[in-house]
Order: sequence, then C-alpha cells, then structure tokens
Amino acid sequence: MKVLTLNFLTCAVKACKSSTDSYPLHPKDAELVEDDIEVNMDLLVNVLPRLDWTALRMTSSELGFPSLPEQPPTQEQLKSDEKLMQDLHHLLLKTQISEGKLVCGNCGHEYHIKEGIANFLLPSHLV
Ligand SMILES: [Zn+2]
Repeated sequence: MKVLTLNFLTCAVKACKSSTDSYPLHPKDAELVEDDIEVNMDLLVNVLPRLDWTALRMTSSELGFPSLPEQPPTQEQLKSDEKLMQDLHHLLLKTQISEGKLVCGNCGHEYHIKEGIANFLLPSHLV
C-alpha cells in the first residue's frame, strides 16, 4: 500500500471513531519497497489540499523519512520547489509498505499488512 493511503485511513473500531488518537494509524515493523514511477506534478499539486499535513508529517517521521516543513506548502510553492516535489513524490507515491502493521493509537489494534495489502477486517468482538 502506498504511504498516501495512510493519510486517508482511520481505525475501524467503533469506539475509536470519536477519538483523535485513532488517526493517523502508526506503521510498525514496516518493510518498504520502492516503485519506479515518474513524478506526476499535477497529481501531487492536486492531492496537496486533500492531505492532512500534520498526520503526514507524523507518518513521514515514523517511517524514517526526512522531516517535512511544519506548514503545508501552497500549490504555488510546491510547483516551484523541486526538492519538496521530489520528497513528496518519494514519500507518497513511490514508497509502498509491503509488510508490517498499522497500529491504532487509541485501542492498540494492529492491522496487518501482507504483500502490500492492509487487512481491515476486525475480529467479531470489536465490530
Ligand atoms: Zn482503534
């Protein structure tokens, strides 16, 4: 799964919906692989306003990526900042989590990732 996806996922446990600790999910024992894809500037510029920047910064540092600016760039700033464009492309689109877990900061549930696919099915006592 792409790191971008993590920015749109929250814990599926009902009791976690109202908790701010259930987002973002925290990668654990993550094995990363890189896809060889070209930078798509339009895609990055368009996805930028939809990102939760605070959550992305957290995910980025948890995965060991260089730290992102504190404030999200504007679309104009991103277009003129080649390095930031490359960094975001690398983090959001090139990098895949192939194996590992996503951990909820509220309930501690661990969602397993296998062959790049996160399993969001909950055991019956949590549904
Ligand atoms: Zn949870």
